[in-house]
Amino acid sequence: MPAARQIILIVEDEPPIAETMVYALQTEGFAALWKTTGREALAVLAEQEIALVVLDVGLPDINGFDLCREIRRQRKVPVIFLTARSGEVDRVVGLELGGDDYMTKPFSPRELTARVRAVLRRSNGEGEAAPVSAVWRHDEARCRISYRARPLDLTRNEYRLLRTLLAQPGRVFSRDQLMEAAWEDPGAALDRTVDAHIKLLRAKLRAVAPGADPLVTHRGLGYSLREES
Ligand code: CA
Repeated sequence: MPAARQIILIVEDEPPIAETMVYALQTEGFAALWKTTGREALAVLAEQEIALVVLDVGLPDINGFDLCREIRRQRKVPVIFLTARSGEVDRVVGLELGGDDYMTKPFSPRELTARVRAVLRRSNGEGEAAPVSAVWRHDEARCRISYRARPLDLTRNEYRLLRTLLAQPGRVFSRDQLMEAAWEDPGAALDRTVDAHIKLLRAKLRAVAPGADPLVTHRGLGYSLREES
């Protein structure tokens, strides 16, 4: 007997978008349920074992963020937000409200199924990443760090550097301390090496959230991770 299919709940009021999603998910072996309002979605969640919710931010009866908050009150189910505007505000607010990922319309069916699989994998405990804060996750076993729900593609030194800063948000680390923590042969590295890696890290973080800049430069002292980031 094949394993029971996981049910994905789609909450979206635009039929063409919803129909495309239902088709894509079914093709990939999921069961897909489609609801057009928050009220109907909550009724489904109260009765059925839902593996993941794909949630449009702009619904006729309730704001998607409020609905997400309501869903979270009831059960622990991963949520992927759909947003029509590419504005940063939507993304940031969405993730602060506990979404696991987001997609900006238009998106391809392939992108949807890839995201759904990735979020399910994460939430099923494979690669259980400890939430360090609202926006940071650190999976120590796999040496992976996620920022605003996006896994970062880091070199070994970038990873070690960020891991060090992440361990104590707000603490100012000198370049020597960072070098000691992140480089295998710190004696051979130069102060400038730390600066260069911070610069690369910043570029990667900016690619996720352009305005946020969570790495703070303390002139003449070193670097810290912004406490509220
Ligand atoms: Ca909508």
